[in-house]
Amino acid sequence: MEFNFHMPTKVFFGFNCIEKHSHELKRLGPKCLIVCGNQSAKMNGSLSDITSALNKENIEFEIFNEVEPNPSIETVTRGGLRARELKVDFIIGIGGGSPMDAAKAVAIVAKNEFSEDVFTQSYKTPALPVVTIPTTSGTGSEVTQYAILTDESAETKRGIAHQQIFPVYSFLDGKYMNSLPTEQTINTVIDAFSHAAEGYLAARSTPITDILALESIGIIGGLLNKLDKEKLIRKDRDSLLYASMLAGIVIAQTGTTICHAMGYSLTYFKKIDHGRANGLLFPAFLRHSMNAQDGKVTKLLEALGLHSIEEFEVTIEKLFEEKIILTKDELGLFSEKAFKTGNVENTIPKPTKKNIFKMFYDSF
Ligand code: NAP
Ligand code: ZN
Repeated sequence: MEFNFHMPTKVFFGFNCIEKHSHELKRLGPKCLIVCGNQSAKMNGSLSDITSALNKENIEFEIFNEVEPNPSIETVTRGGLRARELKVDFIIGIGGGSPMDAAKAVAIVAKNEFSEDVFTQSYKTPALPVVTIPTTSGTGSEVTQYAILTDESAETKRGIAHQQIFPVYSFLDGKYMNSLPTEQTINTVIDAFSHAAEGYLAARSTPITDILALESIGIIGGLLNKLDKEKLIRKDRDSLLYASMLAGIVIAQTGTTICHAMGYSLTYFKKIDHGRANGLLFPAFLRHSMNAQDGKVTKLLEALGLHSIEEFEVTIEKLFEEKIILTKDELGLFSEKAFKTGNVENTIPKPTKKNIFKMFYDSF
């Protein structure tokens, strides 16, 4: 047996955890930049919780609330320049994966010019410390070293991966998800599921991540029929946030597979939400995996409370009713792009370009 496990983020989980542990922030310095989207952080109470905590701890702050879903290099460059001008000591990201990832990139750009070096881990000056507060339960960005950005010049989404951008602290409070609409809840839960399930099936899976992944999948499976804003109670929101965090810890170790790489084109070219893109591709991905990992696919389905890939497919169809049509040319281009990613190596069996095209074709 041989594996590495590294998860340096100090996690505070539970009701009012920001208020209870605000003193921890003091260690990071007297001035910070808050990075968020332009609406939700204000509406769900997370922004006022953190600003009250910063006031209480005498930490100066400015708010950069310009992060769009699937953040661009331009946005994080603007945020990074602002952080540099203000000479802040640390960055706080509040929101779904987009603002949390943007905060991580801002922490790098505050100290380095944005260039290809940011994607290749070869930028020179260490990033500023990052604190995250998730308000969706999907990406797990609060416990990962990844930041995913939209790169217009490459016509795709690209990941930064660097140990320095693991958040130092993450505050996880399920109360912020009470305002999350049903559609966004479903999309993000399926993203969390795909992290746990892809991590479980990944070439880089480990004994520890397998345990965490099955736990996460089990929790999500128990709530799959209840993913409705009106039906989810506080305890359920906590459970989904916990499952999503576990799935984040999994991909921080294992990375994602071809399924995520394929989903990036659906998001970039067709504007399909990230979690939904993964969900739509998942039945075909499971069939591909079944050829080489029959036992693991069966265990994964069991953890979800299902008996077959067909049953899984029906569940996904119920969650994402609207149909999407893609042309053969689009499928060809998307397959080409996915085939060029490192995720190919992390997939068992390692897919050929033809396999990827077939997974796309069978999904749409
Ligand atoms: P998101 O793009 O961060 O947010 C989507 C929408 O939900 C936004 O309009 C946002 O509003 C709103 N929203 C957020 N929290 C809300 C709440 N509590 N109540 C109501 N509305 C809320 O969505 P996401 O799915 O969490 O993140 C997706 C991004 O994360 C993608 O770019 C994806 O590639 C990335 N990702 C990163 C990792 C990683 O490990 N770093 C893993 C997977 C995915 P505002 O804009 O007003 O905030
Ligand atoms: Zn994801």
